[in-house]
Order: sequence, then C-alpha cells, then structure tokens
Amino acid sequence: MINLNPIQTGGILTKAAKRALIEFGDGYSVYDISPGLELEEMPAIREFVSELLPKFLGADIVRLTLGAREAMFSVMHSVAKPGDAVIVDGNRHYTTVTAAERAGLKVIEVRSSGEPEYKIDVNDYEDLIKRHNPRLILLTYPDGNYGNLPDAKTLGQIAKKYNIPYLLNGAYSVGRMPISMKELGADFVIGSGQKSMASSGPIGVLGMNKKWKKIMLRKSKMYPKKEIEFLGSELRGTAVATLIASFPEVKERIKKWNKEVKKARWFSKEMEKLGIKQMGEKPHRHDLMFFKADPLYKISLKHPKGRFFLYYELKKKGITGIKPGLTKYFKLSTFGIPEEKLRYVIDSFREILET
Ligand SMILES: *Cc1c(COP(=O)(O)O)cnc(C)c1O
Repeated sequence: MINLNPIQTGGILTKAAKRALIEFGDGYSVYDISPGLELEEMPAIREFVSELLPKFLGADIVRLTLGAREAMFSVMHSVAKPGDAVIVDGNRHYTTVTAAERAGLKVIEVRSSGEPEYKIDVNDYEDLIKRHNPRLILLTYPDGNYGNLPDAKTLGQIAKKYNIPYLLNGAYSVGRMPISMKELGADFVIGSGQKSMASSGPIGVLGMNKKWKKIMLRKSKMYPKKEIEFLGSELRGTAVATLIASFPEVKERIKKWNKEVKKARWFSKEMEKLGIKQMGEKPHRHDLMFFKADPLYKISLKHPKGRFFLYYELKKKGITGIKPGLTKYFKLSTFGIPEEKLRYVIDSFREILET
C-alpha cells in the first residue's frame, strides 16, 4: 500500500532499525551493550546522546524523553511555575495544551490568519509578551495540521529581546529537514522519534542550550547522579535502539529535503487541477499538506457508502492514510514517497472523481 498518513510517513523503520527492534526486544536488553545503568557507562547511547544528537540539532545538551509531548512537559515543568503563562501558536498540537495544563500553566495563543493559509505571524507574539509576561514561548515548526513553517528565526530574536525562554516543537521537522536550534535562536528544540526519525518509539529528543543545564538537569538529593526531571534514567528499550539504528540514514535523508519540498509542491498543484484546494502556506514548504475537497464531498452526499466512500475507493487502489470518513477536509504527507507513486495517487483521485 502507498501510505499517505502524515503521522506515519516519517516513522517507517529502516532495515537496520528492524534488525535492532528484534535484537533489543527483550526488556532491558539495551543494557547488554553496557556494563552499568549510567549513561556514561553505555558507550553507544552515550555517544549518540552526548555527541551525535547535539550536533544534529544544533544543541549543547540532549536528553531522550518518552515522546515529544513529555519533552514539552519537562521544559514547561522545569522553567515555569504553576500559574505562569506560556504563549503558543494557534496551530499548536493538542499535546502542547495538555503538557501546559499538567504543568499548571496558563496557555495564551497567537491566532493564525485563518482560512485559507492559517499563517502564524510571529510578530504577534510581541504584543502578547508585553501583556502577559510569559515564562516561556513555544512555536510549532511546522504545525501538524497545515504543515506551515512560521518565521522561527525572527521569533528567536523576539525571545532574546524580552529574555524569555523559547521552545521550538519540531515533531514534524527534526529528522525530515535540516534544523538547527542555535541558528533559529531557540533555547529548546524537540523532535519525535516515531513521527519523523524512523524509530519505533515512543521517544522524544530534547535539545537545549547549556544555559539551562542547572535547571533542566538538576539532581536528586539522595542520588546525586540522577536527574530529577528525567526520573533518573535515559529512555531505554527498542525506542532508543531503533532511533540509533536509523540515525545514519536519517542524517542522510535530511540532505534531500529540497526534493521533498519539490515533490510536495508538484502534488499540491496536481490536486488543485482536480479542484481539490490546498490550504496552508503557498507555495508550500513541507510534505504535510491540508486539502479542502469540495468535489469529493459532493460525491459523498450521494454515494451508498456516504462519507466513507473515499477511504474504500482509495483502499481498492492500494492507497491508505487518509482518515476514514473524511472527504471535505483531510491532510496527507508525501514524505519519502517516490514521484511515480505520487503520480499514481493523483491518477487515482482523478479516476475517483470521474466515476
Ligand atoms: C505528533 C506531535 C506531537 C506529539 O508527539 P509524541 O512524540 O507522540 O508525543 C507533538 N507535537 C506535534 C506538532 C506533533 O505533530
């Protein structure tokens, strides 16, 4: 099947990761490759976390978490206190809000421009910063609905001007496209292993500026080597084993990001020729795209299978990944899918519209 599901295209395991999945499937077996339970005693994981990932993310320090959401929570929990405000973009993922609520923070949102582009103007953070005196600002880069890439660098300058910690949520960018926390002026950057780094997950990567070391890596009083925010241990198991195994290929694939963007733009243009409109930024700069498909919706009103018709029609043609029941609005991703297969997807949409 051709899989267009945005939450899956970047998480497909490499061959090396599939081998690692089996090899490290037994409970605590990642500790086979190290004599002890401390990070410094695990050469493969230590090198990955203290050297390879920081370079990859443009960060000073990296920690692994249970997911991108847990990484967001850890930052919020460490840098802010209950009752503090956090300013986030209006296109943020729902886990941004649940993380903030768990940390007891007040969420203030920067509104998007709405239909059709749903753009976030990062300059709008400034006014809200003055009004709410936040302890943290967060930008989703790109967001998981429209695949928009706001001006993260300008927000870095705003964060610096007001001296507010700046968290960049790269769940859909880290592992797909080149991204450097330092270049964008962020204090923290977050990635999701199962979403964009070809790991079985669940696993998150959290890069940070060294100025946050004391706060983020504060130690237990009883166990002076153990970091409290991370509950005293690196992430373990197949999530990290597959993340490490895929990493060499992930490092290579981000170099081909221009090609991915070109493919996405071509796909968007072809869909529009069919009367299916791409929402979000145009020209688009990411493989995740949101479509408004009035012609498909019209068919669904008369079709015996109703709004589930699109799902079944695509499935018959070997295409999956658009949520069952959606016809009018849906998102998809072209990441890692060869051009000829995308051409076939377009032809399939055309056939569905013609019958
Ligand atoms: C998927 C997603 C998350 C959550 O990632 P997990 O690793 O499952 O916690 C957070 N933010 C965005 C933008 C996402 O798309």
